[in-house]
Amino acid sequence: MTKKILAFICSCSLALLCACGSDAGDVSSTQAAASTQAATTVSPKLSSWELILVNAQNWMPEDYQIETASIQGYKIDARIYDAASEMIADAEAQGISLLVCSGYRSVDKQTQLFENKVQRVISEFGYGREKAEQVAASEVARPGTSEHNTGLAMDIVTPSYQGLNDGYANTDAAKWLKENAADYGFILRFPKEKEALTGVIFEPWHYRYVGIETAKEIMSRGICLEEYVAELKGEQAPTLQ
Ligand SMILES: [Zn+2]
Repeated sequence: MTKKILAFICSCSLALLCACGSDAGDVSSTQAAASTQAATTVSPKLSSWELILVNAQNWMPEDYQIETASIQGYKIDARIYDAASEMIADAEAQGISLLVCSGYRSVDKQTQLFENKVQRVISEFGYGREKAEQVAASEVARPGTSEHNTGLAMDIVTPSYQGLNDGYANTDAAKWLKENAADYGFILRFPKEKEALTGVIFEPWHYRYVGIETAKEIMSRGICLEEYVAELKGEQAPTLQ
């Protein structure tokens, strides 16, 4: 009984922070979460680890922990390892070489990256701290707001084009990913036409695991994760930019 109550409280606090739970495998907490959601008519899908929404308004839960596996030398959530490996192997078999260049980052690592960017902006433009943080945040996610902190995102380029810029979208690798990644459960997380809703610039290299069924729906409808999650809640996705 005590365990059930604790799990219930845990699910609630996670839901408040990010509308997700990291404990979907726990039967008692899943049931507790489901009954909470039924009362508020929120889809039980939202408690799935695959749908965690992390952006400028939805910060990582502080106690978020994952088991990682290594792919091409980069850590990712172990639960998406098989899907990622299969995608890369199938692409290779079709003559497309996919090169992972970023995976899981701890919040500490993100803090370091963000701080480096803030310092560069200050020295380059002479801005004060607040303004420099705003400018930095348009290119490097604030600590706790990056999907790389979840382990469910990978930046994927190709050996002949490793620049993280718009030009990558014209490569065969980027085109293959956009066409096929959903079959493995991955979505193009930051589409060009959705910048106002994701709060992030077009990133043709950033792919996020959401599960095959969800990925196919998101990619075929041309929506972003913010819109998909908002729909499940019966809401409109807020503007982040
Ligand atoms: Zn990325």
